[in-house]
Amino acid sequence: MLSNSLIELDRAHLVHPVASYRSHEKAGVRVLTSAKGATVTDATGRQLVDGFAGLWCVNAGYGQESIIEAATRQLQELPYATGYFGLGSEPAIRLAAELAERAPGDLNHVYFTLGGSDAVDSTIRFIRYYYNAQGRPQKDQFISVEQGYHGSSVVGAGLTALPAFHAGFGVPYDWQHKIPSHYAYRNPAGETSEAIIAASVAALRAKVEALGQERVAAFYVEPIQGSGGVLVPPKGWMKAMRALCAELDILFIADEVITGFGRTGPLFACLDDDVVPDFMTVAKGLTSGYVPMGAVFMSDRIYDTIADGAGAAAVGHGYTYSAHPVSAAVGLACLKLYEDSLLENGRKAGARLMAGLESLKSHPLVGDVRGRGMLAAIELVVDKERKTPLPASAEPSRKIFDRAWENGLVIRAFYNGVLGYAPPLCCTDAEIDAIIERTARTLDQTL
Ligand code: PLP
Repeated sequence: MLSNSLIELDRAHLVHPVASYRSHEKAGVRVLTSAKGATVTDATGRQLVDGFAGLWCVNAGYGQESIIEAATRQLQELPYATGYFGLGSEPAIRLAAELAERAPGDLNHVYFTLGGSDAVDSTIRFIRYYYNAQGRPQKDQFISVEQGYHGSSVVGAGLTALPAFHAGFGVPYDWQHKIPSHYAYRNPAGETSEAIIAASVAALRAKVEALGQERVAAFYVEPIQGSGGVLVPPKGWMKAMRALCAELDILFIADEVITGFGRTGPLFACLDDDVVPDFMTVAKGLTSGYVPMGAVFMSDRIYDTIADGAGAAAVGHGYTYSAHPVSAAVGLACLKLYEDSLLENGRKAGARLMAGLESLKSHPLVGDVRGRGMLAAIELVVDKERKTPLPASAEPSRKIFDRAWENGLVIRAFYNGVLGYAPPLCCTDAEIDAIIERTARTLDQTL
């Protein structure tokens, strides 16, 4: 049983990430105590299907013995090794090599971070260094996409285009710019792929022209916008934007923090989109949430320019926990699981998930169903004909989240009436069916 004192201790001392501090305190924390496969158990003994894999990160599922063994062995053998002073550890070197082999194109160089936010931050540092090394320091303006999320560090939060991450923080981001999202369901350009791609191409072209091409450094995208509400661009969008960046001489950065490691089917979504970015960022599924780790991939050209620019001097960017050996050992174990069975299982489970969610389209509350693989969302509306959104406040979402919880399902209920799904790739057919059935029950209770 969850003791009241734990709830009180939480209220008094633990500051939660991205939380409404006051209403969270009123409601009291829900404590998870154990998990196995795709099932989590809370302190009251309730078992739930985790339809969101923690925070879209436990791609391998909970309690995977091979991951636990790899971490335990590494903790016993060598729990820490710095990458400073020319030192290193075997798992970090092997993981970098394995990842480079599987990454798109010539993204052959891997810099390890602690998660996604500092991976994005690192790209900004590397990009500035790259242009300075080329003698083009004026290329210091960055562009991203509305509804995008790229973390909540001081600098990366500026590329993020979700209001909650800016309001009240008062940080000037005047060198970071946005173009409208491809958001098909509510796109003023219409819903056809051609119109959406043409609108995004025109918007980026216009933005670069307005800023001056010689001043624009890079354009950031998520292959599927996650935190903005699982917004899937039409096929060809990534390729068109990548080609435009090459034409305009600006770097193209693919943020695969959510989409990487089988979430959309292949190991990286860029492989499906047939795109080779200049930088790629990953985290989450890299270590499946068992321990923290992220990574930045960079192309040969970028790496060589930075290396030549520095010459014999140190490139002054690094963390105490860069390339942590325990995280790297976990990363290697995850990669093996993905390739042995989970990518394939995820593809099958993803098709079942999408078909199940499509079957809910006739529900009076469901306006849109979208996704790819094990990354999906339904968008609830008050009036389907007019696409009238649910009130933009936390209250309705909180109620839906609570009802789903009581029905034995963890989902993400976004503030704008979007319900997000990102289950572990190990889900069985029965677990996917439970996600659909419990969602339908939750929606019926919401009517
Ligand atoms: N980039 C994307 C696309 C993300 O979805 C996230 C987190 O959800 C981040 C970056 C930040 O990652 P982290 O929370 O590990 O710092």
